[in-house]
Amino acid sequence: MSKIIATSAIKGAYTIVERAQKALEKSIEKNGPEQKLEFPNTGYYLPIIYSMTGIAVEKLEDARKVLIEARKLLPQVPSDNIWLPYLGGTLDAGIATLWAEEIIEAIKYIDGPNPVDGIWLGAATDVIIRERGIEFVDGTAPGFAACVGACRDSKTAVKIARELQEKNIYVFMTGSTDGKTMSEQLQEEGVELGWDTRLVPFGRDITATIYALGFAARAALSFGGVQAGDYRRMLLYNKDRVFAFVLALGEVDEEKYANAAGAINYGFPTIANTPIPEILPRGVCTYEHVVSNVKDEEIVSKAIEIRGLKVTVDKVDIPVAFGAAFEGERVRRENTYIEFGGNVTEAVEYLHMAESSEVEDGKVEVFGPEVDDVKEGSSLPLGIEVLVYGRKMQSDFEPVMERQIHYFINYATGIFHMGQRDISWVRFSKDAVKAGFKIRHLGTILHAKMHSTFGNIMDKIQIKIYTNPEDVAILKQKAKEVFKIRDERLSTLTDETVDTFYSCTLCQSFAPDHVCAISPERPGLCGAYNWLDCKAAYEISPTGPNQPIKKGETLDEKMGIWKGVNEFIYKSSHQKLESFSAYSMMVDPMTSCGCFEVIITILPTTNGVMAVNREFSEMTPCGMKFSTIAGMVGGGIQTPGFIGISKFFIGSKKFIIADGGLKRLVWIPKMLKEEIGDLLRQRAEELGMPDFVDKIATEENAVTEEEVMQWITEVHHPALEMEPMI
Ligand code: SF4
Ligand code: ZN
Repeated sequence: MSKIIATSAIKGAYTIVERAQKALEKSIEKNGPEQKLEFPNTGYYLPIIYSMTGIAVEKLEDARKVLIEARKLLPQVPSDNIWLPYLGGTLDAGIATLWAEEIIEAIKYIDGPNPVDGIWLGAATDVIIRERGIEFVDGTAPGFAACVGACRDSKTAVKIARELQEKNIYVFMTGSTDGKTMSEQLQEEGVELGWDTRLVPFGRDITATIYALGFAARAALSFGGVQAGDYRRMLLYNKDRVFAFVLALGEVDEEKYANAAGAINYGFPTIANTPIPEILPRGVCTYEHVVSNVKDEEIVSKAIEIRGLKVTVDKVDIPVAFGAAFEGERVRRENTYIEFGGNVTEAVEYLHMAESSEVEDGKVEVFGPEVDDVKEGSSLPLGIEVLVYGRKMQSDFEPVMERQIHYFINYATGIFHMGQRDISWVRFSKDAVKAGFKIRHLGTILHAKMHSTFGNIMDKIQIKIYTNPEDVAILKQKAKEVFKIRDERLSTLTDETVDTFYSCTLCQSFAPDHVCAISPERPGLCGAYNWLDCKAAYEISPTGPNQPIKKGETLDEKMGIWKGVNEFIYKSSHQKLESFSAYSMMVDPMTSCGCFEVIITILPTTNGVMAVNREFSEMTPCGMKFSTIAGMVGGGIQTPGFIGISKFFIGSKKFIIADGGLKRLVWIPKMLKEEIGDLLRQRAEELGMPDFVDKIATEENAVTEEEVMQWITEVHHPALEMEPMI
């Protein structure tokens, strides 16, 4: 391999380790060795260090040990006349670099400059990891590009970013070239930055690169069931499952080499647009390790080829860029050309089946004014009627497909969509309209995407778009009647009325033994899939992750145990699980991958349970934060006393019914109580306890288990009179 790279990377590593040591000693002097050292809202400590060594850095003092280990990894700087045939020393130097950089960045949270500043986002919280991580699971995001440095000009930066976005790849940006950064170049061009647009400015220092690699490390720990300290599995996991690469933009100095060496350990190759020495042979990465002198116009496709990444690009015939990465983009009022719905006009979207003779595939009509007929700043009513015909189509699939309208329309750049049914809201940006985007293009998008996504259940689709008040009112009237019928159908669907449940094994790519068994009354724990979704998904892709599970003989009605379900779980958990009870958290509860929206935990002295949602990062009465409990519950194992569930399930009639049901709930974060308030009150009414919801403590009433006990005694919470839980 190239001696120059080895020499540069190793020298860079020495510099960075030295810098970390200085920053650490200075901080200890100022704040004392006991000072907390952490990234905000994470249960993974300093994740690269934690995942590779198992060392949970919690205080400044703990970082000292890590730097001692880092120094042990630093090889001698090769003298000029030595030829280095192996990567070994360089890779070790890369690891030492990443550990040192994590310490440097974490110290910034204490001593400044704060990594979160202006456009710079610093460390991702666990909430972000989970939300974004699932996109890596279900394939909506194939990987990430760690872009280091800056482009030759801001136009080039936009081109590279857009190309990556169109391929749904996350763009993580760190470091600078001659004082310039890619993030600021994008900002100059008015590009929206942030997690929602997948253009993530981590920090302007090269050391911020650890936020990208820490993301990868946390994916392995939280979804891959990798144990902290098992560095080999963590790195292999990333090589095999997280399709990331480094784009070195502009001059590569010693410190950037050191970071590139760190990334190679993960199997992430570096592609540079400057003529740096290459490392071609295969070994750690799937193909080449460092490829250089690639033209800006080719750098994205070259990177994809070298990383061995499979990307599918949506080809939709509209005048603006289109792809899942644009989904989170907003259109601000001042950039809006035209607006529909919101609270300004009426808007409704309604998808339904129709006879073959009524549906002309691909036909899109606009009844009422088009964009050209109105002035900038106008608003119009909007009715989108989607007619679908398919031999395999069922009315149960209508809501599943209809919900996708939101996502598909949002995939277009400069088009914003919110809500659904008769509360939808759409904006076209000035840029989109200038580029030639018309109202009829909404139909173009729906036609193309519905075909590519639901091709298996539908054959033809036609779209009628109304922009005059009379037609929209008529459509809304018609749609609302159907929405009511659909809601009734959903509420009459019970676990008893069907003979088939569905599995979801989507998360097995991250948690190999986990399987969600989804019944009408128990949605998947991520909250993203209910029974109807799974039923439709099975029709759409019969060999996919959602398979029918015949319930078979009922073994225990109260606990929710069926012979067919057990057999299925046994098989698909690779013989790890033998029995599963749908309605109990105490006896053979359902496993969790790590995607749960909420965790239910027993609070033994109260004879009740608490619920905590992922967004709540404070301490809870069980003595642990969400992230710590999540570490115990995830990874596909059964943990009696704990279950991971969706928010919606708390309001289900089947919610831990074998253990006493909703009456057991003694504590819940205030934000969650408000979010699912209607659901809770409705269920409490059904149980004949109209004032029950007020009796559930929040962090405002109680922080410790003892305080919860006091609170529930004062309010006469029903859990106190129930049978003992254990
Ligand atoms: Fe993962 Fe379960 Fe959600 Fe499927 S339903 S995506 S397995 S959490
Ligand atoms: Zn999951």
